[in-house]
Amino acid sequence: MRYQSTRGHPSAPGFSDILLGGLAPDGGLYLPERYPQVSGEELNAWRKLSYAALAAEILKKFATDIPPADIDALAAKTYTPQVYCNGRSDEDPTQITPLRLLEEKSGRRLLLQSLSNGPTLAFKDMAMQLLGNLFEYTLQRQSGELNIFGATSGDTGSAAEYAMRGKQGIRVFMLSPHLKMSAFQTAQMFSLQDPNIFNIAVEGVFDDCQDMVKAVSNDLEFKARQKIGTVNSINWARVVAQVVYYFRGYLAATSDNQQQVSFTVPSGNFGNICAGHIARMMGLPIQKLIVATNENDVLHEFFQTGIYRVRKSAETLHTSSPSMDISKASNFERFVFDLLGGDSARVAALFKKVETHGGFDLSGAPGSDGDEFARVNEFGFASGKSTHVDRLNTIRDADTRYQLTIDTHTADGVKVAREHWVPEVPMIVLETALPAKFNETIREALGRDAERPAGFENIELLPQRFDVMAPDVAEIKRYIAQHTGL
Ligand SMILES: *Cc1c(COP(=O)(O)O)cnc(C)c1O
Repeated sequence: MRYQSTRGHPSAPGFSDILLGGLAPDGGLYLPERYPQVSGEELNAWRKLSYAALAAEILKKFATDIPPADIDALAAKTYTPQVYCNGRSDEDPTQITPLRLLEEKSGRRLLLQSLSNGPTLAFKDMAMQLLGNLFEYTLQRQSGELNIFGATSGDTGSAAEYAMRGKQGIRVFMLSPHLKMSAFQTAQMFSLQDPNIFNIAVEGVFDDCQDMVKAVSNDLEFKARQKIGTVNSINWARVVAQVVYYFRGYLAATSDNQQQVSFTVPSGNFGNICAGHIARMMGLPIQKLIVATNENDVLHEFFQTGIYRVRKSAETLHTSSPSMDISKASNFERFVFDLLGGDSARVAALFKKVETHGGFDLSGAPGSDGDEFARVNEFGFASGKSTHVDRLNTIRDADTRYQLTIDTHTADGVKVAREHWVPEVPMIVLETALPAKFNETIREALGRDAERPAGFENIELLPQRFDVMAPDVAEIKRYIAQHTGL
């Protein structure tokens, strides 16, 4: 299996070549040259598999340059009930992503698939834990080392640290805005005592942290010498790991392959639902893929109008589902490539226009950039939007109807799913975080605290290990060099 850039760069790397990298050399995103197909027979055989075995089968279709036995071992090491043990007490941890029926009404079924039972209580663990093991495995084969450098305002940074802690050949340098994260999120990251994890609290806001990452990444000589890499949401291996739970959810909700299901996905950077799109392109019987956004509705706007208009920082709102607060959707280019029938020249032109004009228009209106919006239905996509008030109402409603506390992001999903569920087609909402992570809003909605999984009760009291730094690029470079010894 070779990979291609959405913008047409002629190199055709393999899976292991793109594993540690980010963007293609021309600024595009990697996609496989064609999507592997899954037959009905295979799908039936997969019904009996454990989560780890299913993950291995799917990974083998994409990572053809890794020996199959090694993939089996990596998946078995990653997807264990010990790693995904933070689920609700009535869930079976051996399921890894347990599926629960929320409601059945006039032939309509609403289900919730838990993706948040990993170490940081959010769905990013599903892919990041595999990435940690894949990185370690690949670096060992090349006797290489890697220094992951990034900025976080919450979920991604902690998922990366928990995936890379204690891994040979890997260090993590993670910037976060000093005193700006929730006490819970801060404690999750800063309580890690592993010597390969470096938490740097920057005296500034998240944008200052991101500017420092950009400045360092633009210094190509420093980047190469210090073996700097990233783990952002455009990483192809992360997308592949996420494809697995769409198959798992489908297989758990159906008994034969004639049945279809739909998914509703709380969305920000379009990484999660992009994996659903890929599962569907592989032949998984998905009827609809519903994008749920919060007030930052870049994606909802596109799926309603065909116009993709990215937002400026000042236009990007801080909401109570903060992990969906995006100004542009970094994985969206992968879908646009398929929507345009693989026309990489047009994809390159459209995303150049995003840089120069802040967006593009595929509505087919006079003067627009194309009329492909008319084809969005063929790919099963639809969308909806949820606001703070909707979020509070949905959290209360779920508490009353299902006796279940759901997090703010998941609430956006449930709200939108209820607008789209139809008879005969089970609607699966992906649960992207546990409520304990966003307790402030749970208190606002329900007047009480969200339940914390065992072991997290006193996380704020654990000793913390971090360094405070001014937003100073020279200073962070010195810090990295000093700790890598490179
Ligand atoms: C990252 C995240 C999302 C958004 O996922 P994308 O892949 O960026 O679309 C939604 N909910 C939670 C809790 C997250 O951490």
